[in-house]
Amino acid sequence: MQMYEIITKKKQGKALTSEEINFVVENFTTGAVTDYQMAALLMAICLKGMTAEETTNITMAMVNSGDTLDLSVFDAKTLDKHSTGGVGDKTSLVVVPVIAALGYPMSKMSGRGLGHTGGTVDKLESIPGFKTGFTIEEFLDIVKKCGLCISGQSGNMVPADKKMYALRDVTATVDSIPLIAASIMSKKIAAGAEYILLDVKTGNGAFMKDYDDAKKLAEAMVEIGIGCGRKTAALITNMSAPLGRAIGNSLEVIEAVQVLTDYKNASQDLVEVCVELAAHMLYLTGEYDLETCAAKVYEVLSNHKALEKLAAMVTAQGGDSKYILDTSNFEVAAHDYDILAPANGYIGETDTTGVGIAAMKLGAGREKHEDEICYTAGIMLHAKYGDYVKAGEPIATLYANDHATFAPAEKKFLESIEIVANKPDAKPMVYSKVGV
Ligand code: URA
Repeated sequence: MQMYEIITKKKQGKALTSEEINFVVENFTTGAVTDYQMAALLMAICLKGMTAEETTNITMAMVNSGDTLDLSVFDAKTLDKHSTGGVGDKTSLVVVPVIAALGYPMSKMSGRGLGHTGGTVDKLESIPGFKTGFTIEEFLDIVKKCGLCISGQSGNMVPADKKMYALRDVTATVDSIPLIAASIMSKKIAAGAEYILLDVKTGNGAFMKDYDDAKKLAEAMVEIGIGCGRKTAALITNMSAPLGRAIGNSLEVIEAVQVLTDYKNASQDLVEVCVELAAHMLYLTGEYDLETCAAKVYEVLSNHKALEKLAAMVTAQGGDSKYILDTSNFEVAAHDYDILAPANGYIGETDTTGVGIAAMKLGAGREKHEDEICYTAGIMLHAKYGDYVKAGEPIATLYANDHATFAPAEKKFLESIEIVANKPDAKPMVYSKVGV
């Protein structure tokens, strides 16, 4: 088989066979296919697309490039979730302990943040002592012991994706729905769960800004999951404003704990998305109707079983559960600064990416992979989309260890919000569902 012919075939818009796809992925992973040939093929895929069958085949070829998890050791239904990311998205910190409290082992692999979006691993590492780097054996042992574990990528999982993503990043070939879907789903399939719920976010803070693109990505990912023998569904959720009130690592852990402790007084947009995600994960197992699933989720929030699970996970992963049981133990940033409303009116459309960038300027996020982050830095929103504010009232508090970051962060924040005379229409948190 010749790479040249495979590139030509895709350039002509023809579908590749599974043998051709396996050849490409195997040989690219070992280095036998060069970066320049792979870049040409990726660009041809970007321009000509892939059929559903090709997309499933490339996903499986990527899964087979490295280690996979065998979750049959748990002798129970195994569930997973994935969010395409956004600003203030701390749903995994709530949903994973909720599902574990309902009796399903949760072995969740998560990522770090980059740019305007945060990552679950960084958020958890804001808990002093908390570890996220484990071998596969250690990771599964923690799940066996306490029912849940959230780690970074363990072992040598999906090396083909790591190499392909690095190449896509520098060859303008990231924005291809089949390639994005295969990249995300290869990691989910390799992680082993039988039931996979995808949270595909849309809006100006999301990776997929446009609803139709988000829907296409959700459909492509659900089709791959089903093609790979996993029960898979997706919710398309609202990322046209930050989720909840906290943006920044330890601030987000504190807000997630508030949902697990006292959901009635937590930010209701966040509570709604967490409950919908957890209820749909449970629903995928086919054991209960959707109403019963939601009731079960509320039950483990109300009786604090999910909170206990999070505390147990923190202890098992080397942290101190005192931070979960009493979040006032968290260190706070050296400085804080209130942003005041510049006018009377309602908070209208928010440039959510801009708010994420303001948090990044405070030190909460990374501009480049190698940047250090400040765990206590971030933003607490006192007013959100649709809320009425009076001129001079605090609408957000900025937190940082470096006082000099406040001026650029405030400027970015104020450029990112609008204050309007009329109350804007409410938006749903869940726009639609795929595969449910
Ligand atoms: N996230 C991923 O994991 N892969 C992509 O290709 C895009 C976003």
